[in-house]
Amino acid sequence: MERSLILIKPNAVQRGLIGEIISRFERKGLRLAGLKMMQLDDTILNEHYAHLFERPFFPYLKESMMVTPVVAMCVEGLDAVETVRLMVGATNARKALPGTIRGDFSMSGEQNVIHASDSVENAEIEVKRFFREGELFEYESAITSFEYGHEERARM
Ligand code: UDP
Ligand code: MG
Repeated sequence: MERSLILIKPNAVQRGLIGEIISRFERKGLRLAGLKMMQLDDTILNEHYAHLFERPFFPYLKESMMVTPVVAMCVEGLDAVETVRLMVGATNARKALPGTIRGDFSMSGEQNVIHASDSVENAEIEVKRFFREGELFEYESAITSFEYGHEERARM
């Protein structure tokens, strides 16, 4: 089953949005495979945001990600990576559509409440970066047949 890595950023922790954000994924029907609080440091952020190393905002981004612990989540579902990105919305939250998490809860392109993996390949790497094996859980949803149709279940 496809998995995606989500981080609830320090700005959302400060603003009391943890429950609201977790709740959106839960209500959508994405299965929670892992959930924990973590204090991020230089090492993990240099790795996680390596693609942005050259950008002028890189030091500010890193600093903003260490202000409080983050909440790391691994969610699972059919086409989970793309579905989660749609729910998260555009990077610049002022341009994120209403109804998306960034669109509903942020005015910023930096303090944009949440991180989500942007491709299936990156999701696999990111889930491993933030979760050890024993921290991820496999369990059957008792209501899969009410969450997905026949053909979809065959793809799972
Ligand atoms: N970011 C920023 N300024 C920018 C672009 C990105 O501060 O002009 C921050 C923002 O917090 C964003 C993160 O860097 O979420 C990672 O950037 P990326 O392009 O990977 O966007 P995302 O995948 O988070 O939508
Ligand atoms: Mg990204």
